[in-house]
Amino acid sequence: MADIIIDRVQKTFAAFHALKDVSLTIGDGEFVSLLGPSGCGKTTLLRIIAGLETATAGDVRIGGKTVIGLAPKDRGLAMVFQNYAVFPHMTVYENVAFGLRMQKADDARVKAQVERTAGLLHIEEYLDRYPNRLSGGQRQRVAVARALAVEPKVLLMDEPLSNLDALLRLEMRTELKTVLQSAGTTTIYVTHDQTEAMGLSDRIAVMHYGVIEQVGTPVEVYNHPRTRFVGGFIGSPPMNFIRLPVIAGEVEAGGQKLAVPAGATGEILLGLRGEAVERVSTADGLPMHVRVAEPMGSHLLLTGSIRDQLVRIVLPASETVRGGDTIGLKLDRDRLTWLSPDSGKAYPATP
Ligand code: ATP
Repeated sequence: MADIIIDRVQKTFAAFHALKDVSLTIGDGEFVSLLGPSGCGKTTLLRIIAGLETATAGDVRIGGKTVIGLAPKDRGLAMVFQNYAVFPHMTVYENVAFGLRMQKADDARVKAQVERTAGLLHIEEYLDRYPNRLSGGQRQRVAVARALAVEPKVLLMDEPLSNLDALLRLEMRTELKTVLQSAGTTTIYVTHDQTEAMGLSDRIAVMHYGVIEQVGTPVEVYNHPRTRFVGGFIGSPPMNFIRLPVIAGEVEAGGQKLAVPAGATGEILLGLRGEAVERVSTADGLPMHVRVAEPMGSHLLLTGSIRDQLVRIVLPASETVRGGDTIGLKLDRDRLTWLSPDSGKAYPATP
């Protein structure tokens, strides 16, 4: 078993509180992403799990045993970090074989594992080359192959795909998912790229200023963000937030009366996903003034305003809208998020 329990971990750098009481449980074989903007503490948390950084307080348990005080090599994990370290004096073959040699694997196993992982990562042609004759992306694939070759129980990755071009990133994402699913490797994956986190993860932990704001499946964090930050960080375009006045437990949105959660008075923040709308006539819907219409091929992306507040709306590609138009929108009442404008926290979902 290689479940991981992160229990009230704190980290301070002098007076700076980089991690504030972070707890997270990752199941055996699960793929969890730590997602958040630069500086939110995700790398620090990963380094603490790896044993490269010491927690100021709290515990980390892998497979039921605390690993606090254990050296990285004794924690049963493999790592791929942003600054992928491939050994320049070794061929790609020997780089990939490195962990296996350290484990004193026999030659047959080394050969089989190197060939298998090299195949997965499309580096078979380079096995005899030295890293100085590889591109950054190719070196990164060597680093991933080296980590996978030892079939680790726990794999820690920090932005491993960041040096690859867009197409290769997509391809690698699919490959990583396939490889890790079949291997049953417990994986923690640090990224600031929400698309990557959504595509790869069983669950995502969204971090902000040293705390985990929400943990959930990609669909949960997308559809039911618990905070304004999570809704705005996840999704492309991000969730829209529109302030609306509450009158007698309802808001009025272009003829649609929408019940708001109990207790909401004054103003409420409506969290609206760009695609949770239907275009209707301007007389029947909430008016949106369109500033720019971008045909994206698969959909039409509109940027403009609703009640003088910036919004991005997604319509089917077949719709015809131009910059300067005013269109009517009907909101999908089952897909709305209601938040407090003061705290930025979502009200619990109403039945
Ligand atoms: P990025 O995506 O940019 O790597 P991150 O979310 O991984 O960001 P961390 O590297 O974990 O962020 O850093 C969290 C915070 O802690 C940052 O504000 C950073 O400046 C600070 N920090 C990290 N390491 C140190 C250190 N050794 N000394 C002082 N401050 C540090």
